[in-house]
Amino acid sequence: MSIRLLNPTLINQIAAGEVIERPASAVKELVENALDANAKSIAVRIRDGGRTYISVTDNGGGMSRQDLEICVERHATSKLPDEDLFNISTLGFRGEALASIGAVSRLVITSRQNNDGNAWAISVEGGNKSAIQPASHPAGTKIEIKDLFFATPARLNFLKSPATERGRIAAILKKLALAHADVAFSLYDDQKEMFNYQAATLPQRVSHVLGQEFFDNSIEINKQRDEVGLHGWISLPSYHMRNSQDQYVFVNDRYVTDKVLASAIRIGYQDVLAPQRFPAVCLFLEVPAVELDVNVHPAKTEVRFRNQEAVRRLVIGTLRDNLAAQMSANSTLTDKAIAAFQSSPVPTPNPIGYTPTFSQATQPTYKERMAAVASQMLPLQDNPEPAELREPDSPLMIKPYTTSMASSDMSKPEQVTISEPDYQLGIAKAQVHETYIVATTSDAVIIVDQHAAHERLVYEKIKAQHKSDGVVRQALLIPEIVELGREQTELVLNAKNCLLKFGLVIESFSDKEVLIREIPALLAKECIKQLILDIAADLQEHSQDISLEETYHEVLSTMACHNSIRAGRKLSLDEMNAMLRQMETTPKSSQCNHGRPTFIKLPKVEIEKLFGRR
Ligand code: ADP
Ligand code: MG
Repeated sequence: MSIRLLNPTLINQIAAGEVIERPASAVKELVENALDANAKSIAVRIRDGGRTYISVTDNGGGMSRQDLEICVERHATSKLPDEDLFNISTLGFRGEALASIGAVSRLVITSRQNNDGNAWAISVEGGNKSAIQPASHPAGTKIEIKDLFFATPARLNFLKSPATERGRIAAILKKLALAHADVAFSLYDDQKEMFNYQAATLPQRVSHVLGQEFFDNSIEINKQRDEVGLHGWISLPSYHMRNSQDQYVFVNDRYVTDKVLASAIRIGYQDVLAPQRFPAVCLFLEVPAVELDVNVHPAKTEVRFRNQEAVRRLVIGTLRDNLAAQMSANSTLTDKAIAAFQSSPVPTPNPIGYTPTFSQATQPTYKERMAAVASQMLPLQDNPEPAELREPDSPLMIKPYTTSMASSDMSKPEQVTISEPDYQLGIAKAQVHETYIVATTSDAVIIVDQHAAHERLVYEKIKAQHKSDGVVRQALLIPEIVELGREQTELVLNAKNCLLKFGLVIESFSDKEVLIREIPALLAKECIKQLILDIAADLQEHSQDISLEETYHEVLSTMACHNSIRAGRKLSLDEMNAMLRQMETTPKSSQCNHGRPTFIKLPKVEIEKLFGRR
C-alpha cells in the first residue's frame, strides 16, 4: 500500500483519542479554557454522565467573530504569546481541545465579548464546520457538546455507566475548583444540582471540597525554599484513607498527577502511617514557569521539574517536619477521654465492694517495692528475674529501670526515702487488661498502649542502627531459602547491597530462589521469609519509579511490628518503667509508626472536675 497523508478530520480524531478520553476530559478542557478566559463563574451541565450532553457556560472574556471562526481549527490558540513552551502561564497552550472535540461530537460554541454588540455562534459536527451565525448570549462563552464520540463509536464502548462518568466529571471539577477558589463553580446533572461552590477564600474552598472533617484533622503547611514554594493542608496521621483519591497536588495552580510527588508524600508519612493507608493532602507548589515542563502529555496533567530532586526534598522535608511537630501534642485525645468519662453512666453500687481489675492491684506499690529492695525483706513481686523486656520471640531487651537510693543504710528500710523524679510519663503503677500501662506524674494520670509504644521504640532503634550503618546482624545456623520466581529474584539480588545495610545478607541460590545467610539481630527468625517476600513484592511493584528508601521504610515498619511486645503480655513494674523512660527519649514516641497514639494523658485537674472537687 502506498503512503498517503491522512485527511484533517481523521488527524483530529486521532489526536482526540489522546486529549478527549472520556466526558470528564472534555469538561476539563472546556473549564480550563473558561479559566484562561478569566471567568469568575463557571456552570457545567451534563446528561447521561456527559455522553449525550455537556455544556460549560462562563462569564469570561469571550471571543470575537474572527476568533470563533478559527478556535475550532487544530493548533489554533490565543495563548503562548511568546511562543515559548518553557514559560507557560495558562492552562491551555496546545490549541487542540476544541478541534478534537469538534471532530468526535456535535459542538456548538456561542460567545460574546464584553464590548461586542451581539454574540456569535459556530457549530462543528464530526469535524464539519458550519458558517458563523449571529446569536443571543450575555458576555462570556457557552460551549455545548452533544453526542460525544458519535463520530468514533468504538470509544463509546470504553465508557462506564453514566453514574461513574458523572463521578469522574465531578472529581475533575473539584480539582479545578480547589486550584481556583475565587471562581464560582457549579455542576448540574439534568437539572439536579450536584454542587454549587460560591467564590471563596482558599481555606473555605478546601473545607467545601474536601470536607470539614478533613479540614479539622489537618495541619496547614507553608514553606519556601529558594524559588519553590509549598503551601497547603495535610491530614493528621490519625486521619487516613483506603486509597490516594484524596491527595490533590497542584503545580502553579494546575492539577497534576506526578509519581515523584506521590512518592514524596508517601515518604513524608512513612514513619507515622500504616502501610496500605493513605493520607489526605491538598498541596500547592509554586515553581518558576521556566523551571517546569508541562508539555509532557496532551492531557497536560503530567509535569517535569528541571530540579526534580529539590522539589521532592522540599515536599518530604516539609511533611516530615510538620508531622513530627504534631507528635507531642494530642490534646484532642485527652478531651475525648475526659468526655467519655463524663458521659459514662454512674455504676450501680457493688454490695460486696469494688473489685479493681488491675492485674497488679494486690501487689506492693512502687515505693514499697523499692523500699523492699533496699531492705531485702520482700521478694521481688512475681518476677524474681532481673527485669528485662524479654519476649520468647523477641530478641529485643529493654534495660531495667533503676532508681538510685537516697540512703545506703540497708538495715533501716523505714528511713529510706525515695524521691520520685517527675518524669514526663510518670512512674508506672499498674498494668491493666495486660495491654495498658497506668502511670502517674504529680499532676496527671497517663495510660500507655504497650504494643503501640513498643512498636515505635523498636522502629526508631532499627532506624538509628540503619542510619549509623550499624545494623547488628546474626548469622542463621541454617540459611533460609526463599522462592521468589525469576523476576523477583533478580530484583532482590540487584538490591543486595542496599539490603545489606538493613542487616540482610542475601545470596543467589538458583535463578528463582535466594538464600538468606544473615538477618538483623533485632529480627525474629520466624518472620524472615515473609519479610523477603514483602520486599520482593514491593521492589516489583515500584520498580524504577519509587526510591528504594521508601520500600525500605516499609521493611523497617514490618520488622518493628513483628518484634514488638504484644497486647496481652504481662509486664513487671520495672519493665513498664523501663519502657516509659525509653519513650521519653525516643523521637515521635507519642505515636506508633502506624499513626496510632501510644499514650493518653489525663490531667489531675480534669479528674478533680469529674469528681466535683473543682
Ligand atoms: P488552547 O486552550 O490550548 O489554546 P483550545 O482548543 O482549548 O486550545 O482553545 C482554542 C482557543 O479558543 C483558545 O486559545 C482561546 O483563545 C479560545 N477559547 C476557547 N474557549 C474559550 C472560552 N471559554 N472563552 C474564551 N476563549 C476561548
Ligand atoms: Mg484549551
